[in-house]
Amino acid sequence: MSDVTIIGGGPAGLSAAIELRRRGVRVTVLERELQAGGIPRQLPHPGFGMRDRHRLTTGPRYAAGLVRAAERAGVDLRTGETVTSIDALHADAIVLATGARERPRSARLVAGDRPAGVFTTGALQRFVAQHGRIGGRAVVVGAEHVSYSAVLTLRHAGCHTVAITTTFDRHQTYPALAWATARRVPLHTNANVVEIIGRTRVEAVVLSDGSRIECDLVVFTGDWVPDHELARRADLPMLAVAKAPVVSDDFQTERPGVFAIGNLVHPAETADVCGLDGRHVAPAVLDWLTLGRWPITVTPIEVRAPVAWASYDGRGITLRVADIVHGRIRLTHSGEVQWISDQGTWLPNRSITIRRDAMKFTSRPFDDQRLLVDVLR
Ligand SMILES: Cc1cc2nc3c(=O)[nH]c(=O)nc-3n(C[C@H](O)[C@H](O)[C@H](O)COP(=O)(O)OP(=O)(O)OC[C@H]3O[C@@H](n4cnc5c(N)ncnc54)[C@H](O)[C@@H]3O)c2cc1C
Repeated sequence: MSDVTIIGGGPAGLSAAIELRRRGVRVTVLERELQAGGIPRQLPHPGFGMRDRHRLTTGPRYAAGLVRAAERAGVDLRTGETVTSIDALHADAIVLATGARERPRSARLVAGDRPAGVFTTGALQRFVAQHGRIGGRAVVVGAEHVSYSAVLTLRHAGCHTVAITTTFDRHQTYPALAWATARRVPLHTNANVVEIIGRTRVEAVVLSDGSRIECDLVVFTGDWVPDHELARRADLPMLAVAKAPVVSDDFQTERPGVFAIGNLVHPAETADVCGLDGRHVAPAVLDWLTLGRWPITVTPIEVRAPVAWASYDGRGITLRVADIVHGRIRLTHSGEVQWISDQGTWLPNRSITIRRDAMKFTSRPFDDQRLLVDVLR
């Protein structure tokens, strides 16, 4: 029996582990937190598990279900284990599943002091879960799905959202979600928070148009960045914009025996899509273990602006646009059109998916990958 080590015990890593065990492979999952389950463990709202577990549940229940299934399947689940380099691991295959996080204030080059009261959505949800009511007024930076989830969390915590800011000229979520959660909240478009005022506590923010908004809390939302330190240290080629390791459609990286899955390779999809990644990677891992099968090169999907990046997920290809764009998204393989969307408006920060079964390829197209995604206007 072969050994596979999976780094990261979130939805992607646990799903891969369960699927590999089902195929008789010995699997160890190394998770740095004291409990496995990844980010969903800390998100008490419903909205998890539709595509992979076929029922909607809360984050903690979804995470606990995956952990239970992994334990029942016989996965060697080791928590409190932080991996700092993959070179020290003795395994026949390694699966990186370290996830992605919202870019914190420190990485966003916002001027000002470092007062208390500055969060990402994830940190806010953890804080509210622990402390309950927080009160006060908040500014939410970003206007994508997760930003409106932050507005909802703030409301439950008795905190009034006084402004939402976005660098684009509209929000990037479903109109119904924006209406239901924030119809009375002013949306500042084409604006960014450039300064936070306040020594010990947040007192106000200054926007790029010079206006000042009094508040007690600032929540930086979205703007995902993969947890890619291990991949970088392993010298894996990266997608420049997504800052994610380049993978094949079977999640193979440039280094034979090393796979990468989950939000590490597509920042960020929902947890169930990461779960599907985990299932999709298992047969490829088995092929490597039993046949030594690996692509000669792993070529990134080429993109042309305004497409920002494209990568693979458990459903097919997932991509993002860098700006609001009108037109048809097109996938070509060595110059031949494989898929083209209807005419539409495409928004940044929104997942755009090209499903495997919708592409024209009749056989595996990816061994001599020459894929290009662009927009036909
Ligand atoms: C605020 C917020 C709201 C969200 N709402 C939803 C929702 O409603 N529905 C939904 O489906 N999804 C939601 N998501 C997204 C969901 O959480 C992610 O899609 C999912 O967690 C990604 O799974 P993953 O396995 O790729 O990564 P993660 O869940 O991030 O798991 C990665 C794991 O790897 C571990 N790790 C990282 N580095 C190392 C290392 N060096 N050594 C050992 N372990 C390591 C981490 O501790 C972590 O446990 C939300 C996310 C946020 C932040």
